[in-house]
Amino acid sequence: MEYPRAGGGASCLGIDLAGVERRETGIALLADRRLALLTSAASDADILAFAARAGPAAVIAINAPLTRPRGRCCLEDDCPCRHDPGTRSRQVERDLLRMKVPTLATALLKVLARRGIRLAEALRGAGWEPLEVYPYATLRLLDLPATGKRTPLGRRRIHHALQPLVPGLQHPEASEHQLDAVVCAYTAQLWREGRTRTVGAADEGLMVVPTMPLAWGDTAPPVRHVAEAGVPYAPGEPPQ
Ligand SMILES: [Zn+2]
Repeated sequence: MEYPRAGGGASCLGIDLAGVERRETGIALLADRRLALLTSAASDADILAFAARAGPAAVIAINAPLTRPRGRCCLEDDCPCRHDPGTRSRQVERDLLRMKVPTLATALLKVLARRGIRLAEALRGAGWEPLEVYPYATLRLLDLPATGKRTPLGRRRIHHALQPLVPGLQHPEASEHQLDAVVCAYTAQLWREGRTRTVGAADEGLMVVPTMPLAWGDTAPPVRHVAEAGVPYAPGEPPQ
């Protein structure tokens, strides 16, 4: 589908999805590039309500696998669709490893992947085409602090680094899932601005990652070309 074309004021919703409803899902909403909402959700119904609040023109970015490895009908270890090697991970995960951005194979994230796939289907059914993102990859590729989010000090470092990029972010007590949601929403904003590319395979599953550090100061490090697998994002080009 084509994304609805909207002005720069359209919103970007970031979702740091938990594998199960009883765990915290981080939710961040950018409106006009400003953080308009930072909170947490539990159930799929809650998450879909935040999508509705973001509006039909919102870009929605989710930190979770949204597709299965090619050829897999499921993620069960004992299903005949599993053939080793090669059916545990997706191309996107192999691309990330080449970019020195460690990640886990989809099959090792079964519970989260099942929920991500289900949520993506529900969102598509309601008219959105969600982007798969990975906050750790976004932070790494933008040369921002990416580690230590499990400690208060690490979260404050990430929060401090994000503040110049995300006006309205004044939440030093944000949870790690809320901070990840901010990075998801910010990645959606970069996508909207045409400042991203994709990794992975179009017929399997793509992830949106930043193309370059933001050259808003003269200290920005040079553009990196660390992987060659970029392909256009299939469901629609970023609006210009
Ligand atoms: Zn199967």
